[in-house]
Amino acid sequence: MDAGGSIFNAMLQEFDGAARLLGLDPGIWKILTHPKRQITVSCPIQMDNGEIEVFTGYRVQYNITLGPAKGGIRYHPGVTLDEVTALAAWMTWKCAVAHIPFGGGKGGVICDPTRLSRRELEALTRRYVAEIIDAIGPEKDVPAPDVNTNDQIMAWVMDTYSMHVGHTATAVVTGKPVEMGGSLGRREATGRGVMIVTREAAKHLGFDVKGARVAVQGFGNVGSVSADLLARAGAKIVAVTDWKGGVSNEKGLDIPKMLDYAKQHKTIDGFPGGDPIDNAKLFGLDVEVLVPAALENQITMENAPQIRAKIVSEGANGPTTPEAHRYLHEHGVFVIPDILANAGGVTTSYFEWVQDRHGYFWQEDEVNQRLERKMCEAFDAVLNTSLRYKTDLRTGAYIVAISRVATVTKMRGMYA
Ligand code: NAD
Repeated sequence: MDAGGSIFNAMLQEFDGAARLLGLDPGIWKILTHPKRQITVSCPIQMDNGEIEVFTGYRVQYNITLGPAKGGIRYHPGVTLDEVTALAAWMTWKCAVAHIPFGGGKGGVICDPTRLSRRELEALTRRYVAEIIDAIGPEKDVPAPDVNTNDQIMAWVMDTYSMHVGHTATAVVTGKPVEMGGSLGRREATGRGVMIVTREAAKHLGFDVKGARVAVQGFGNVGSVSADLLARAGAKIVAVTDWKGGVSNEKGLDIPKMLDYAKQHKTIDGFPGGDPIDNAKLFGLDVEVLVPAALENQITMENAPQIRAKIVSEGANGPTTPEAHRYLHEHGVFVIPDILANAGGVTTSYFEWVQDRHGYFWQEDEVNQRLERKMCEAFDAVLNTSLRYKTDLRTGAYIVAISRVATVTKMRGMYA
């Protein structure tokens, strides 16, 4: 994304395009393009060698008009306030598209977790949470896992917050282990959402996912579950790649066997059920559906002209550059944007928060049925809006999100 190097400016470009089409009130425009709250904290930690290190952490609450801020915590050496702010803004639009009562937030700590011992990681997590403790809470801001953070780290977040408030507060964070207030179905939720919107898009374009050929980039949480559930829906997964390599088989890969292989080998490279393939070839395959579910900026002007898929279903966040997105749209490719396609994860996080607050937990099929309904409603809202405004689905999704947040902003009025 080239927007002067700023990810936040890239987000603003997408926002502005949709806001213009929507005819957004200039005052509301100003409000929605400013983060509500940006917190920067220093976290001093005694390392295992006895030395003190100070880590910088951020928590941004971009907009909390619809409800508590919601968004992950990222541990990465490249974390910046600009990036965290952009991610918090995207969470605002994603929650609004999914029609769940959350605003958008995001957190990050500048660190390389691969160089921290388990004790150091726990100490850093607890100190970071203690530093932002006044800003978070079930009614204020509800973090979740993101890059390099997991359910164990969420358990430490929950425990630290609970120790400070003096009682067990499960609803302060989502993505927790199921044993301590996590939701059944959360692990699979993002991939399940990808499957649902892909199936609905195929229906809209006049074909069935049953029998459709699908290529998937990435075989982690999102990619592997998307592949598995699309295969269960009758699709033929003809190629998968991961960080190390890839496998293709035009007759269809055996996904359950691939899941076992990936568990054992930590990669799908060398899986015996097909021929080797790389990302460049995967993107150019003759398939009906392409699911980028790995990293950002994978579909660029270098490979977009080779894409033959009818549907690109963005499992990853930001996998398509704005130029490549324009190219694909102009060439008739139906791109299901990230803020819709991967919203199944945050939707089931919302279900986790609801169950924690009720202290009553649903069966897995109930979670899945509710997710099915929410994803279909979100897909229909975005599709109908993009048809009404004669625009692409990404702009349609922004229009849905912005108008929902703008409507409530106007209803609540100006506090001054
Ligand atoms: P993950 O770490 O579980 O998996 C990432 C996968 O991508 C791995 O299989 C890895 O090998 C593969 N990969 C890395 N580099 C690659 C490359 N160059 N070519 C091909 N494959 C490569 O992560 P995840 O949770 O599945 O997240 C994937 C994307 O989905 C990210 O953009 C993330 O932000 C987004 N996302 C995740 C969730 C969620 O609930 N997990 C929710 C919304 C969005």
